[in-house]
Amino acid sequence: MKAAVVSNNKTVEIVEKSLRSLKPNEALLKMDCCGVCHTDLHVKNGDFGDVTGRVLGHEGVGKVIAIGEDVTSLAIGDRASVAWMFESCGSCEYCINGQESLCRTVKNAGFSVDGGMAEECIVTADYAVKVPEKLSSAKASSITCAGVTTYKAVKVSDIKPGQWIVIFGLGGLGNLALQYAKNVFNAKVIGIDVNNSQLEFAKSSGADLVFNPVEEDVVEKIQEATGGAHAAVVTAVSKNAFNSAVDVVRAGGTVVAVGLPSESMDLNIPRLVLDGIKVIGSLVGTRTDLAEAFQFAAEGKVTPKVEMRQIEDINDIFDEMVSGKINGRMVIEF
Ligand code: NAD
Ligand code: ZN
Ligand code: ZN
Repeated sequence: MKAAVVSNNKTVEIVEKSLRSLKPNEALLKMDCCGVCHTDLHVKNGDFGDVTGRVLGHEGVGKVIAIGEDVTSLAIGDRASVAWMFESCGSCEYCINGQESLCRTVKNAGFSVDGGMAEECIVTADYAVKVPEKLSSAKASSITCAGVTTYKAVKVSDIKPGQWIVIFGLGGLGNLALQYAKNVFNAKVIGIDVNNSQLEFAKSSGADLVFNPVEEDVVEKIQEATGGAHAAVVTAVSKNAFNSAVDVVRAGGTVVAVGLPSESMDLNIPRLVLDGIKVIGSLVGTRTDLAEAFQFAAEGKVTPKVEMRQIEDINDIFDEMVSGKINGRMVIEF
């Protein structure tokens, strides 16, 4: 089978690979498609360590074509996900208190284990979440990382109906953050991006206000329009966005950190303490979060914008991502 594999020169190679046979509790997926997340760009660049030889991909959706012994959660013919939260231990404090993505021995698809950017993929059956019938595989692929991550981030922001939330970065993740915030949590949404085409896209997806920090002072604009937002979710891969997020929220506000620039943010301690600002890191979501995120997409409340591509385009897709040319998600179709 063909697979997109990290090579040692910060590019991705398409190679022929064969898979081992299934162990108990595993399932074999024939992949329908796999989205290309900005995290894949970090991974192939070695931002989180060298993973030469790893098959990329954690926005995968495929059909079950074989199951190992003892599998009860999936049946042949089901469609299921290949997500960043590939498998956790199931018994540590995080696994039993609803924070399984923080398990200290978690396995991550396309990073610590081979992922879904290949014609076939072996998954741990109990961790592959079933895709609802009404949701196409192409749209489900975006929910498998971008969707669940931003659904969860908006959830932990604790935003209430009618309150203002600011989304920094309106790319693959940000556009879905805005749709979950607006259509599921009933919030008023402000979109921020340095790229005007993302702002246009955000407006057409329902953003109430949009601002470009290159052209205007977003802190001043947001304070003027709202008196300070109640929450902000930062998906932008930029320290500047994290710093602005702290300044756009009102006293008692929450900043949810999602983007992964390899930098530190500034945090003014009196601002943090005297104004009771909360800053929370949020990592993907649990299997339950993913099932909920799928369901909202199946109901049409959230619609990922996807464009189908071939696996041979993978390095071009990363170039397009770096130069800000992608609206929504590029999805490799198999
Ligand atoms: P993307 O490239 O599709 O989108 C990033 C967007 O940020 C682009 O629209 C870009 O124009 C915009 N941007 C860049 N600088 C900005 C700035 N200063 N202010 C506002 N916007 C700015 O990327 P993506 O796939 O949406 O991923 C975004 C980040 O989230 C990546 O770092 C990725 O690794 C991370 N991520 C985190 C999690 C998690 O669980 N926390 C999950 C998935 C992805
Ligand atoms: Zn991702
Ligand atoms: Zn655990």
